[in-house]
Amino acid sequence: MSSAPSDSFHRKIDYLRLSITDRCNLRCLYCMPEEGVTKLQHSQILSYEEIVRLARICISMGISKVRITGGEPLARKEALELCKTIAGISGLDGLSLTTNGVLLCDLAEELFRAGIRRVNISLDTLKPERFLQITRRDLFERVWAGIMAAQRVGFSTVKINTVVLAGINDDEIKDLARLTFRYAVHVRFIEFMPFAEHECRTRFFPASQILERLRPLGSLEASNGEEADGPALHYAFKGALGKIGIIGAVSNHFCSSCNRLRLTADGKLKTCLFSADETDLRLLLRTGAKDCEIAAAILSAVRKKPERHHLGDPVFRKAISRPMFSIGG
Ligand code: SAM
Ligand code: SF4
Repeated sequence: MSSAPSDSFHRKIDYLRLSITDRCNLRCLYCMPEEGVTKLQHSQILSYEEIVRLARICISMGISKVRITGGEPLARKEALELCKTIAGISGLDGLSLTTNGVLLCDLAEELFRAGIRRVNISLDTLKPERFLQITRRDLFERVWAGIMAAQRVGFSTVKINTVVLAGINDDEIKDLARLTFRYAVHVRFIEFMPFAEHECRTRFFPASQILERLRPLGSLEASNGEEADGPALHYAFKGALGKIGIIGAVSNHFCSSCNRLRLTADGKLKTCLFSADETDLRLLLRTGAKDCEIAAAILSAVRKKPERHHLGDPVFRKAISRPMFSIGG
């Protein structure tokens, strides 16, 4: 097995976020509009075999951590089978999943058996009526049941991802953080990232204020995160079972430690979430490229990975690449 490739800025690239669908059963305000979403056609989406082949090639190149994401990954019928097959690829050192939790209650056990060990579940509120407002679907109870099921099954880490929006859910920061006292869950607060000229643009709530809101709960001690955690700063309250993470991708950029590649459901490789640059691996797959040619294209993209994003710069106020559901977060 090769050791992980490095980019031109000496960053070791060993983590792949693999989006297996652009479809979703929620419509979160900050991610996906209710109407007017252009869905990929079936033929545009990578097949099961194509996904597995690309995963194998990446892992053979030294990419050792893979996260399955979407859209909503569990909305793809083959999700379990894909997890099982990818988990079995030799050289993989951890398969994880990011889900909105809607289908998790029924699938948690099978996902664990398939080889998923870490699960991130998106949850922006503890209030059912607000959940409906944010996701446009009345499914809070199902997601909560999914979080509880994930706890029971024994995943090594269960994280809750909360996108904080000013005036929408910033008043729940403390309540969500308190979950870490009752449950062994990591609650991660995420700054809203402005994709396109978005209606939530005015609702940006900075990481520094998230931290301020947490202070009354007790002293927050810095804590170690996992390697594949990317841009989160980690803390824990004394005596808590779980940790707190703050992901300030806009206010603080952590590009110098970025180890990620992203593969979209239609087979485009992205080396930066906020860059429009993509490498069309689907084209290579469907025009008879050999594994070594695909690996060479991946390596070439890695070498061109940008040094940093420019999202927080005042001049950078325009739309960027694709919406989040189409990249995979
Ligand atoms: N559907 C799954 C879910 O919601 O967990 C996986 C895909 S979703 C695109 C991955 C993550 O991106 C979620 O945690 C979601 O909250 C986050 N996300 C989506 N749009 C975002 C935005 N504009 N800013 C910050 N985070 C966003
Ligand atoms: Fe769907 Fe996840 Fe986007 Fe919400 S954040 S609309 S659950 S893809």
